[in-house]
Amino acid sequence: MPSRFIFITGGVTSSLGKGLASASLAALLQARGFSVILRKLDPYLNVDPGTMSPYQHGEVFVTDDGTEADLDLGHYERFSGVEERSTDYVTTGKIYSTVLAKERRGDYLGSTVQVIPHITDEMKRFIIGNTEGADFVLCEIGGTVGDIECLPYLEAIRQLRNDLGRERVIFVHLTLLPYIPTAGELKTKPTQHSVKALLSVGIQADLLLCRCDRPIPADAKRKLAQFCNVHSEQVIAALDADNIYRVPLQYHAEGFDEQVCRYFGFKDRPVDLTRWKNVCASIDNAKGSVRIAVVGKYVQLLDAYKSLIQALAHGGMANHLTVNLTFIDAEKEDDIEKTLNGIDGIVIPGGFGERGINGKLKAIQFARTNKIPTLGICFGMQLTVIEACRNLLNIEKASSTEFGPTEEPVVGLMTEWMDEQGIQKRCAGGDLGGTMRLGAYPTHLKPGSLAEKIYQTTTISERHRHRYEVNTAYKERLESAGLMITGFSPDGTLPEIVEYKDHPWFICVQFHPELKSKPFAPHPLFVGLVKAADDYAMTHPRNTQ
Ligand code: GLN
Repeated sequence: MPSRFIFITGGVTSSLGKGLASASLAALLQARGFSVILRKLDPYLNVDPGTMSPYQHGEVFVTDDGTEADLDLGHYERFSGVEERSTDYVTTGKIYSTVLAKERRGDYLGSTVQVIPHITDEMKRFIIGNTEGADFVLCEIGGTVGDIECLPYLEAIRQLRNDLGRERVIFVHLTLLPYIPTAGELKTKPTQHSVKALLSVGIQADLLLCRCDRPIPADAKRKLAQFCNVHSEQVIAALDADNIYRVPLQYHAEGFDEQVCRYFGFKDRPVDLTRWKNVCASIDNAKGSVRIAVVGKYVQLLDAYKSLIQALAHGGMANHLTVNLTFIDAEKEDDIEKTLNGIDGIVIPGGFGERGINGKLKAIQFARTNKIPTLGICFGMQLTVIEACRNLLNIEKASSTEFGPTEEPVVGLMTEWMDEQGIQKRCAGGDLGGTMRLGAYPTHLKPGSLAEKIYQTTTISERHRHRYEVNTAYKERLESAGLMITGFSPDGTLPEIVEYKDHPWFICVQFHPELKSKPFAPHPLFVGLVKAADDYAMTHPRNTQ
């Protein structure tokens, strides 16, 4: 069947959860036996979020094929299990750079290059390209209707409804129904205005998805329907949820997927919600809890650790435990040991730059000496190696070239490596955007290692996003101190995993396992960490002081 396109726009305010809405609807369509592709179009001018600060943008999600993308793509994968690709994420900056490159090549020779049709055509090409085999393509338009920056995307999707026909395109508009306590009711006016703003650019919303903190009374639905040109049943409540994984079942109860199917004439497809019922049951059936600390630099904006937080929750679900997280600011190094008291497990997450490293190094030392279960991720692995060199091997100047020139480059700039395209070369002072080691690479695990025990196999594939690597020149010395390199790139040149041999559970990985964890397929490293933390808690009764 030809792909149907579902466009999800947002109104009234940002942060209403368009990404989650799109991901949850995709999960429900899958539950009805349809295949889905999820895409996002972001309205900013950066070519990708790779060079943006985590405080601006939150986490940068990385796909297997090495695209640096918005964190919503993480929700898409976690809810649908469908692997995102480079063809599923675009920014206005990327669209413009493609159009401008074509202009320089002479592709538009003779024409004046304009937003309409050249930019909008490029957007349309992106939306409908590479969709073979998908019953539904869900496209989220970033930003909020009314923003100047969104206009070209709205124009592109307006045109696509004409190009493809009404029977292949639906517009879903996500808005907010605020509850005003003094009036004692949910207010519909902001939604009415937002729907009008969409109409003013030629788009009539077909379904309204309304964020609200309580059920929408029938008369409010009728009012919205009347003013916004839809039927009452096309006004769907998107109720606040205490856990994001309850959203698919909530949407289903509100009739969201049924309305979408009806619109396209698929109303009799049976639905199998077993996966989501099981996920909710694993949240509800927690038999206890563990405390895990994340020692990081971006703790003021937890979106910077979006996938990590989710992966830890998945690890909890697999163990029937609730994971209570404590975020520790690595820059407040004086308090680190005190704050870590009573913690059952530690994560040293990825990061960039020298600021905050002393706090992380102290946390690593504390975890190592107190035998607290610990997972180091990317930067966390590099700092674990530096900590071992400085404190166990007395290499005082051990450092990373990321922090400037050093006599002991235990972690160094990677200037050459192999990927599927062949040899990749980088040099100091080169472009920063899109030039890290990005995407999926295989790792071979050492038989008999903790890594092998966790993964239950000896070859894995995980996603990378880093510029520096542990220097193999220090391998023998590190191993003499008990820090074993138990995962290598297949050619044996790049250390991918280190673990302490005399520690119950201390493992660090050069890649980002959190990016591949799903609620219905928790990542083994997080399942292992939560299990080890639970074992630790059993043998170390909590000091509740
Ligand atoms: N800053 C380190 C590097 O570029 C680690 C990056 C990360 O943790 N993602 O290699």
